[in-house]
Amino acid sequence: MTAALELIGLEAGYGRIEVLRGVDLHVPHGKVTALLGPNGAGKTTTLRTIGGSLTPTKGCVHLDGVHVNGASPSALARAGLCHIPEGRGVFPNLTVTENLRMTVYGGDRSLPDVLESSFARFPRLAERRHQLAGTMSGGEQQMLAMARSLTGRPGLLLLDEISMGLAPMIVRELYDLVGQLAAEGITILVVEQFARLALSVADFAAVMSGGFITTVGQPADVADAVEDAYFGGAA
Ligand code: ATP
Repeated sequence: MTAALELIGLEAGYGRIEVLRGVDLHVPHGKVTALLGPNGAGKTTTLRTIGGSLTPTKGCVHLDGVHVNGASPSALARAGLCHIPEGRGVFPNLTVTENLRMTVYGGDRSLPDVLESSFARFPRLAERRHQLAGTMSGGEQQMLAMARSLTGRPGLLLLDEISMGLAPMIVRELYDLVGQLAAEGITILVVEQFARLALSVADFAAVMSGGFITTVGQPADVADAVEDAYFGGAA
């Protein structure tokens, strides 16, 4: 079966700084794949390259078997890809409802439809629908970012460090949601520094170090590689 996403010998970086040095990764449909690794391994750069905000200098990105190198983020979004960057990407000076309304423009869904499905999935956002996003807790902002991303019914969701700066309980809740989304058929590639949590919902994991994927496998198979990559540290 064609992969939802395939990276083949992907190289990319920032000007003369080479970060990705030949990344190979196969992300199957409807599963959660965790991309793990220590600080600076190149995880965020990999997501940026898949999401079209960086152009590969070598290698290929295939979405559902289609070569998409160089496609713009908006073209990739139309192809069903949604990237939630580190730091979440909500509009802090708009309310929850207004943040959701922004996603309706140019789409095929009405605002009431989007609000109903978002609030059913995230009851906490319903309670806070009139609150400015920037005044909500980090976890609530992450929920809003995820709700915004889901309004376009993505086929492939790229999540970058959803646990960043959040309390363990709320992170658990967010990861439960990641598991539910995969059960609904959305393919998820999640970048995470806290390996244990991501591995608890992942079907497959890839460990990255120094701009390469060093190990891939099922969560139990990569445990040792995760320890090595983190030098026995934060994993
Ligand atoms: P972290 O877990 O700390 O976010 P990461 O694995 O996601 O790490 P990246 O953010 O992809 O790592 O960074 C990989 C390398 O690229 C690092 O050495 C970083 O300093 C560098 N880098 C990242 N963004 C830029 C940028 N905009 N300009 C120049 N170098 C960058």
